[in-house]
Amino acid sequence: MAHHKEERTLVIIKPDGIQRGLIGELIGRYERLGLKLVALKMLVPTEQMIEEHYTLDPEWRRVTGEKTIKGYKDRGLPPPSEDPLAITAVILENLKKYMTSGPVIAMVWEGAHAVELVRKVTGGTEPRSAVPGTIRGDFVPDSYVMSDQDSRAIRNLIHASGTVAEAEMEIKHWFKPEDIIAYRVLLHEATLYEPELKGILG
Ligand code: GDP
Ligand code: MG
Repeated sequence: MAHHKEERTLVIIKPDGIQRGLIGELIGRYERLGLKLVALKMLVPTEQMIEEHYTLDPEWRRVTGEKTIKGYKDRGLPPPSEDPLAITAVILENLKKYMTSGPVIAMVWEGAHAVELVRKVTGGTEPRSAVPGTIRGDFVPDSYVMSDQDSRAIRNLIHASGTVAEAEMEIKHWFKPEDIIAYRVLLHEATLYEPELKGILG
């Protein structure tokens, strides 16, 4: 089994994160966790890439549809359909519009418990109920009542893989193996003062 410190997760700064001028702040949150950035690119995703991304897990359509129906009922509202797949078809269309509306930044972060720690710092999917101190809890006021009313995806700044298995599939979907850089982070002092920066790739 690979060492815990080699765990990797995919993070995407969604179009609203870039439009809000939060790139540095968001990257800083993961960097200060002690995780290592091992791949990064900016791109405007295609609708096909987004559909494939969300359906890498064949269960995602059913699980997300069922969760959304429960969410409506918990709020005392009738769901627009009792069919989970019909619900997810709408969510997916909205996600495609949202995620292709501008550039995004896709990143791979590596380190101990990367998947779990990134999710913790990112916060729950719905910003309105995300805990203060998390990214979604601190930087964005969106809610399902509002996004559903306006027939759009919830704007929550970040995508972060949910499990180690999901992370492995998602990283393969967004990056070629050669885009991911194996390197060591030398002691801060050496990085600041060592004249030749020897050893970073060694
Ligand atoms: P994430 O991993 O925190 O992004 O959440 P999920 O993987 O469960 O869902 C992916 C995306 O589907 C979210 O970012 C939302 O856009 C959408 N979604 C998930 N759950 C709901 C819901 O209950 N209602 C609505 N309207 N959209 C949802
Ligand atoms: Mg997810």
